[in-house]
Amino acid sequence: MIYPICVYGNPVLRKKSIEIDENYEGLEELIASMWDTMYRAEGIGLAAPQIGKAIRLIVIDAESLAEEEPSCKGLKMVLINPEIISWGDEQVFLEEGCLSVPGIRAEVKRPTKIVLRYQDEQMVEHEKSFEGFAARVIQHEYDHIEGKLFVDSLSSVRRSMLRAKLQAISKGKAKASYKIKPH
Ligand code: ZN
Repeated sequence: MIYPICVYGNPVLRKKSIEIDENYEGLEELIASMWDTMYRAEGIGLAAPQIGKAIRLIVIDAESLAEEEPSCKGLKMVLINPEIISWGDEQVFLEEGCLSVPGIRAEVKRPTKIVLRYQDEQMVEHEKSFEGFAARVIQHEYDHIEGKLFVDSLSSVRRSMLRAKLQAISKGKAKASYKIKPH
């Protein structure tokens, strides 16, 4: 099933998502729907709040970036209850976009390395380090389950420049090649 994508202004994007376990009803189907929704929207990652569910579930497939971003080679995974357990000291600015903030791209400063603990779709626990763009993609998606959006971290000047655009998105006036859900 393809879900509409909740966009800026939708309160579900501001909730801190809750953990799930193997008894979560329809989990397998939900994960399949998240893949379908993400690919339909041509995204490289999707967090459950973006389809209206405030649970700690993320899908990522950044393989399409592997040529320019070697760290994304083979980066396809389901993250259940992920937890970033450490961050590297080095931080860099790089441009990001988000399916929930259509039409806006901005430079965001993030650590270049993280260590992540998560469960896969079989509920098996892993602990793994990521760097480069892979670490960025994961941090971006992780922010979603914490109720944060990439535009939150922009300078107030930059954000006020985007205010009209953000307001338009929250009124459902954004142009996107996929169905959006502002409320
Ligand atoms: Zn996003």
